[in-house]
Amino acid sequence: MKRINFTSIICFFGGLMIFVLTLSFAVSFSLCLPLHAEEGMLPLSEIHKLDLKTKGLKIDPAQVYNPNGISLIDGIINLSGCTASFVSGEGLILTNYHCAFRAIQSLTTKDDDYMQAGFLAKERGGEMPAKSYRVRITESYRDVSTQVLSVVKKKMDYAERTKAIEKKIKEIELKAEKQNPGKRARVAEMFVGKSYVLFISTDIKDVRLVFAPPRSIGEYGGEIDNWMWPRHTGDFAFMRAYVAPDGAMAGYSPENVPYRPRKHLKIAPQGVKAEDFVFILGYPGRTRRHSTSHFVSFEEEVRLPYVVDLYGKLISVLEEMSEQDRAAAIKLAPRTGGFWNRKKRYSGQLQGLKKVKLVDKKRAEEKAMQDFIDRDKKNKKKYGNLLESFANFYAEKRATAEYELTLDYLFQSYPLRSAYTVYEASIERKKKDTDRLSAYMERNFSRTKERLEMRMSNYFEPYEKVALKEMLLRAARLKGDKKIAVVENIIKGKTGTGVEKAIDAFIEASYKKTKLKDPAFVMGLFGKNPAELKSLEDPFLEFAAALSPDIVAHDKNKKRRKGISAGLLSRLVDIKKQFLGKDFLPDANSTLRLTYGRVRGYSPKDAVYSLPFTTIKGIVEKHTGQEPFDAPLKLMDLHRAKDFGQFKHPELDDVPVAMLYNLDTVGGNSGSPVLNAFGELVGLNFDRVYEATINDYAWNESYSRSIGVDVRFILWFTQKFAGADHLLKEMNIF
Ligand code: ASP
Repeated sequence: MKRINFTSIICFFGGLMIFVLTLSFAVSFSLCLPLHAEEGMLPLSEIHKLDLKTKGLKIDPAQVYNPNGISLIDGIINLSGCTASFVSGEGLILTNYHCAFRAIQSLTTKDDDYMQAGFLAKERGGEMPAKSYRVRITESYRDVSTQVLSVVKKKMDYAERTKAIEKKIKEIELKAEKQNPGKRARVAEMFVGKSYVLFISTDIKDVRLVFAPPRSIGEYGGEIDNWMWPRHTGDFAFMRAYVAPDGAMAGYSPENVPYRPRKHLKIAPQGVKAEDFVFILGYPGRTRRHSTSHFVSFEEEVRLPYVVDLYGKLISVLEEMSEQDRAAAIKLAPRTGGFWNRKKRYSGQLQGLKKVKLVDKKRAEEKAMQDFIDRDKKNKKKYGNLLESFANFYAEKRATAEYELTLDYLFQSYPLRSAYTVYEASIERKKKDTDRLSAYMERNFSRTKERLEMRMSNYFEPYEKVALKEMLLRAARLKGDKKIAVVENIIKGKTGTGVEKAIDAFIEASYKKTKLKDPAFVMGLFGKNPAELKSLEDPFLEFAAALSPDIVAHDKNKKRRKGISAGLLSRLVDIKKQFLGKDFLPDANSTLRLTYGRVRGYSPKDAVYSLPFTTIKGIVEKHTGQEPFDAPLKLMDLHRAKDFGQFKHPELDDVPVAMLYNLDTVGGNSGSPVLNAFGELVGLNFDRVYEATINDYAWNESYSRSIGVDVRFILWFTQKFAGADHLLKEMNIF
């Protein structure tokens, strides 16, 4: 990993979250032990500033991250949005079951039900392509803030400003890819409107599934246990990266050979114990900790309730359809699981935000900051109206939120989504490459098509119809002057039951006529121009064309808002620095980060303390034989026989299944290796406790706990249950 001329993107650490609610027991508990964990996901540029040795690291920090040589960072990968790591010199990858799930699901048929039975390739030849998966290895990074911001001119309005920045970013990425053939470039915004970093990565396109446990292990406890502790989920899977025989990054081919990573992680089969130092290297997705009370209350009152309500409705349809038909259940599984996961996370956030009174706390801090601003003439001139501007910004956003959310979530049904993508492609592909929406640029277009094809492979008509109806009904209910013209045209001024009837009639007639049910037909539409698409007279393509003015205006408005908020947020960072007199880190943004802390339990509520390890005994105790508590009988037999091999926890007299630690993680950290003081893998991060769903907005040592699968369970299950000794040998376990 190389660091190229990185100008510091430092900022300050927000003590902002420190005031979040702390349970009395947790306070007294944590006071008697060193805290060690700190809020924050350190970007690469910050790691060397931290004295990791005093925190508990037992190796040279240069072995963790070395910009001029090989270090642990080189063994960490971004796996299609999740994190994963290389665990052998032959490209073997360890990640979460839920991160590999799309691959498992897409290979599953009624006859070869890998979701139910699990999947194991006995030899390399049997490893199956994980379609559309990408392995991304970060190679180098450099600050490009000056270049990016050089295009901002005083006279520009907010939308122009955003457009100019986005275009410049595209140009930087294109140039970097030209200078680094075969590599991928991405500019990440670190501090909104302020600092930008160019990351160069290697992208591997041939990824294969090696071993996945049955779903009854990989998702044991299902949605009942999701985001909860105590947890007994074996959320792990193995994959492998392949490249062309000459080392080039090629798409799937039987001729391809396993990739030889520069670095792979060593496994520590003995695991860890409570209070041990651990750290995580990974790609946390998105946090919003440097946000205002106005943003959080918008989330709490508007966006999160909207999504919880929508997904709640769609989930009940998905579940009902899945219960009746296994083939439908297989096709609908990614949507059912995805919606459940988000719905429960958002519900947790709604409860958590209220419980810790984050809005009130942010308001109090903003009031103190306003007083601080007003006390100084210069500050008053520069920042005097800043917080008021945030208030106005969110007031405007609230006024049209229902309309905008309806547009954001409109494409629930695949034929309509396909129609819009194809239509948009026909317009965008005519433009100069850097003027196109990024999905249609030359460097991204094949991926856009690939994703759509993957979606269409899960087409299930009864559900597509219901999902479309739900969204059209929501659109029909919009009040005021913000309405969607194409939907108004369907309902033609009808009211009451007339609206539903008109929508039903539109859906029935459209499905009778459309050819966009067929994935091959949809894919064949790419490359056609708008006139050719029009001549097909397909109802969904016609709908897409008529909808386009709303979407285009909505996108333009989003750009305008992005420009405004970038200006406001960058000023907020400046004044917050003065106000707090402290440095803080940029919010997570899907770039490589390090977080550290201890294996530790917590007190989720009065009189309750949760221990940091669960064991197989807990799987047996929860077993009912009914999904999602239907552990395989072989596992129960192995447990009864106490056949634990070398993977037993010395004190617990059992194999640990999951563990808790006080590290700062969010979505995107799924699949991140949990590493011990020697940098060896002791677990696999996969979730957070319910109270920590609000990590996206606020973090606190008292309640922010993340959950990992214990490496001992991974190895035990792989050996004793699946008999995959060859994988253990490959990881040098014997
Ligand atoms: N299980 C989580 C997810 O998939 C990971 C996290 O957000 O902590 O979103």
